[in-house]
Amino acid sequence: MKSTILGYPRIGPRRELKRAVERYWAGGIDERELTATAAELRRSCWRQLRDAGLDEIPSGTFSFYDHVLDTAVLFDAVPERYRRLGLGRLDTTFAMARGTNEVAPLEMTKWFDTNYHYVVPEIGPETVFRLAGRTPLAEVAEAREVGVDPRPVLLGPVTFLLLSTASPGAEPGFRPLDRLDDLVERYAELLGELAEAGVGWVQLDEPALVADRTPEELAAVERAYRRLGGLATRPRLLVATYFGELGAALPVLARAPIEAVGLDLVAGRDNLRRLADEGGLGDKVLVAGVVDGRNVWRTDLRGALSVCVSALGLCRELVVGTSCSLLHVPHDLDLELSGEPTGLDPSLRPWLAFARQKVDEVVVLARALREGPAVVSAQLNDNDAALRARRNTDWARVPEVRRRVAALRPEDARRSTPREERVRRQREVLGLPLLPTTTIGSFPQTKEIRAARAGVRSGRVTPEEYERRMRAEIDRAVAVQEEIGLDVVVHGEPERNDMVQYFAERLVGFASTEHGWVQSYGTRCVRPPIIYGDVSRPEPITVEWARYARSRTSRPVKGMLTGPVTMVQWSFVRDDQPRAETAKQVALALRDEVADLEAAGIGVIQVDEPALREGLPPRAEHRAEYLDWAVTAFRLATSGVRAETQIHTHMCYSEFGEIIDAIEDLDADVTTVEAARSGMRLVADLGAYRGEIGPGVYDIHSPRVPSVDEIEADLRRVLEVVDARRVWVNPDCGLKTRDYPEVTAALRNMVAAAERLRAEI
Ligand code: GLN
Ligand code: ZN
Repeated sequence: MKSTILGYPRIGPRRELKRAVERYWAGGIDERELTATAAELRRSCWRQLRDAGLDEIPSGTFSFYDHVLDTAVLFDAVPERYRRLGLGRLDTTFAMARGTNEVAPLEMTKWFDTNYHYVVPEIGPETVFRLAGRTPLAEVAEAREVGVDPRPVLLGPVTFLLLSTASPGAEPGFRPLDRLDDLVERYAELLGELAEAGVGWVQLDEPALVADRTPEELAAVERAYRRLGGLATRPRLLVATYFGELGAALPVLARAPIEAVGLDLVAGRDNLRRLADEGGLGDKVLVAGVVDGRNVWRTDLRGALSVCVSALGLCRELVVGTSCSLLHVPHDLDLELSGEPTGLDPSLRPWLAFARQKVDEVVVLARALREGPAVVSAQLNDNDAALRARRNTDWARVPEVRRRVAALRPEDARRSTPREERVRRQREVLGLPLLPTTTIGSFPQTKEIRAARAGVRSGRVTPEEYERRMRAEIDRAVAVQEEIGLDVVVHGEPERNDMVQYFAERLVGFASTEHGWVQSYGTRCVRPPIIYGDVSRPEPITVEWARYARSRTSRPVKGMLTGPVTMVQWSFVRDDQPRAETAKQVALALRDEVADLEAAGIGVIQVDEPALREGLPPRAEHRAEYLDWAVTAFRLATSGVRAETQIHTHMCYSEFGEIIDAIEDLDADVTTVEAARSGMRLVADLGAYRGEIGPGVYDIHSPRVPSVDEIEADLRRVLEVVDARRVWVNPDCGLKTRDYPEVTAALRNMVAAAERLRAEI
C-alpha cells in the first residue's frame, strides 16, 4: 500500500515560473535562462516530494503555459498558421497560447468545472500526428538525477481529442475523436520509448470520462486502451480519472488491459459503490483519490482510512492518492506563517492543508494502511482534535445571517416589473443610442496602481495618498472613455487586486491568504479566498468609488460587482454546508451592495458571473440542481432594484448554448458574453434569446488590436440574428491585463465599428 499524488502545482511556491516566463516575454531573459529556472523548479519539487516520503512521484506535471497545449505540441498538432511563423518549439507554444501580431491565439476555455483554463487544440483531417520532441523522457532523466524514479503523466488520448476542436478547414461532420487511431499510434510509440528507458509506470489522465459519454465515445476508450494495453513492450498503465463519477466508463476501464485505475473518491463519492456493483477491479491496482485536490480543508484522516479499507476488497492493491492533481490548490500552508500584516488568519491554520500538506496526508494514510493505525496515532489524534475544534467553533456561525436566509420568500428572487416594461423605462432614463458601447469593467492595472497597492500594504503609502492615487486612475480611465466616446462608462476597477479577492477581503466569513496562489491560465495566477463561515457585509464596498466616477462624467456610470455564483465558485468553499446555502448568504450581502449603489444614483449595475458556466456539473443528471441554486443566488442579489435600474451581467469562457435558458432565467436586462475568442460561435445560439446582449467583439486575452473591419464583420453576424435594438457593443472581458495604448486603440476601433453600423440602421 503506497502513496501518490496525481500532480503538483508547477508555478513555484513564490510564483517563480510566472516571473521567469513574463521576463522572457518581455525580452529580459533568454530561453536558456528560462529553461534553467524551470528545471530548477522541477528538481526542487521532486526533492520535496521525495523527502516527504511519497512512494510514487509523478513527472510531466510541469508546463510553461498549459499541459493540454503541451500535449498538442508533443504530438505535433500545430496548426499551419503557427508553423509558418518559423519559430522554435517554445515560441511556437507561446504563439499558440497568446497569439502574435500576425496571428490570433488558439481558443482558451475552462478545464472541466475548475477555474483553470486550457488552450484548445485544433485537430483536423489534415493534422499529421508525430512525436515531435521527447519532453517526457527528458523529465524522467532529470528526475532520476535527484534520485527519483518518476511516473510520467500524460494527458490521455481520448480526453485530449474530446477537449480539442475541429480545425477551421474541417468538414462539418468531422470530430477530433475521428483521429483517435492515428493519435494512439503515437502514444504507443512514446510508451515504447519510455519502456526502453526503464520507466515502470505511466499515468494517462482521462478526466473526460467523468462526463456523460456516448456509446461511440466509450467504444473509442475501449479501442484506445485495448491497443495501448496490448503493446508488447510498454510501462504499466494507470488511467487516472477525476472530478466526478465514472458512470458507464467504469466497466470499460475495469475490463481494459491496463494495470491501474484512478478514481476520485471525493467528487465522485458514488464511485466505490458502482465499483462494488461491477464486481471490483479484479487484479488491477486502485489509486484511491481520498485526499481532496480541489479544496483546502484538512482531510478527515479516519474517514479517509475507512474509505480505503472498504475499497481494499475491490482491487488487487490499493494506492492512496489525491482526488485529482494538486494543481488546483496552493503550494504550501507553511508559507503563510511569516507574520505578514495581511494574509491568513492564524486561527484557521489547523483546519487547512495545501498541496504540501496533502502530500503528508497521503503518506500518513498509506502508512496507516500498511503498518496499522497505531504507528501514526499521533498524526491521527492531532487530526481528530483539529476537526473537533472546527466543528465546535462558534465564531464561524452568525445567527443573524442564518435567520435572514431562513426568512427568504420566492418573491425576494424576482424583479417586480416584467422585462418589457423595464426596457421601456430604462430607455427613457438612460437615453442611449442604438448599439450602445461599453466595457466589461476593469481598465489596465498599471505599474502605478500596483506600486500604490504594495505601498499601502507595507505602510509606505498612507491610506489618504492611496485613495488620491486611485482617484487619479479613475480620472484617467473616465477621461479615456469620454474621449473615445463610450456610451456607458466604468470607473475601471483600479482598487481591485482581483474581482473575487477584493470582495472577499471586505466580507465577513471569507479569509484571504498571502501566498495561496493557484494557476488560472498561463502566467495568470489567482489567490482564491477561503469561505470558512457565515457571510455578511459589514459596510458598503464599492459605493464611494462608483460615486466618485459618477461625479467625473455626465455619461451613465456602470457600477461593478462580482456575483454570488462566481464568489463561491472561485473560492475554496466550506465543506460543512451545501454550496447553495453559502451562495444565498453571499447573494444577500451583494443585494445590500446593489441597493446602496442604486441609492447613490448609479443607474446601471453589472453583476459579473463569469463562473456560471464552469460550475455546471459534468453529468447532466446533476445540472438542474446546480442551475437552480445558481440562478436563484444571482436573482437574490439583483432583484431588489427599481425598474429603471439596469442590471447587467457578464460571462466569459462560456459555451453559451448549453445554458442559454439559465442565462435568460437570470433575468438581467443586459448580458455581455465572451465571443471573439471562440470565433463568434455563440451567435448561432442567440436566435431564441430575448434579453439585450453584448457579444464581445474583441479578444482581450491577446495583445493584438482588432481592426474596425474585423469588429464590424463580427457585429454584422450578430445583427443577422438579433434585433439591433437588443445589441450592445463591448470587448470580451475586462481590460486589466492589457496596457493603455492597446486598449485605447482597440476601443477606438470598436466605437468606430459601432458608429458605422448605426449610420446604416
Ligand atoms: N468586471 C470584471 C473586469 O472587467 C470582469 C472580469 C471577468 O469577467 N473575468 O475585470
Ligand atoms: Zn469576463
